[in-house]
Amino acid sequence: MYCYKCGRQIEDNAKFCRYCGAAQQADAAGGQKQEDLFGFQNNQSAPQPTPPPQYSYTAPDDSSSVGFGILSAFFPVVGFILWLVWRDRYPQRARSCIIGVLVSVALYVVMIIITVALSVSGILASGMIYSYSW
Ligand SMILES: [Zn+2]
Repeated sequence: MYCYKCGRQIEDNAKFCRYCGAAQQADAAGGQKQEDLFGFQNNQSAPQPTPPPQYSYTAPDDSSSVGFGILSAFFPVVGFILWLVWRDRYPQRARSCIIGVLVSVALYVVMIIITVALSVSGILASGMIYSYSW
């Protein structure tokens, strides 16, 4: 018989391979197990099919666009819709749109804060004037 691990010839009734020390099974079940072991190893060494990358396809004309960024800044809703439509096929251009939207929203928030701050200070100032004029 042959060692199932190293393949060298050993005694038929040997319990252990004298070359590599692997435990041997001399009965028929052992033979079946050998085939299973080799089959398992073959499966393990077989090349795995590479999973398809998620964003494999990007349009060749995709590029970041300042124009669409400005458009999105002026019309955030349009920019957001464009981002939804383009984010799969035109990731660069979609990023320009969403950046424009975010800049627009940020400016909008800043304007609100400034307006609120001015009105609060205006109320305070008018309150002070009111109290002075009293
Ligand atoms: Zn061996």
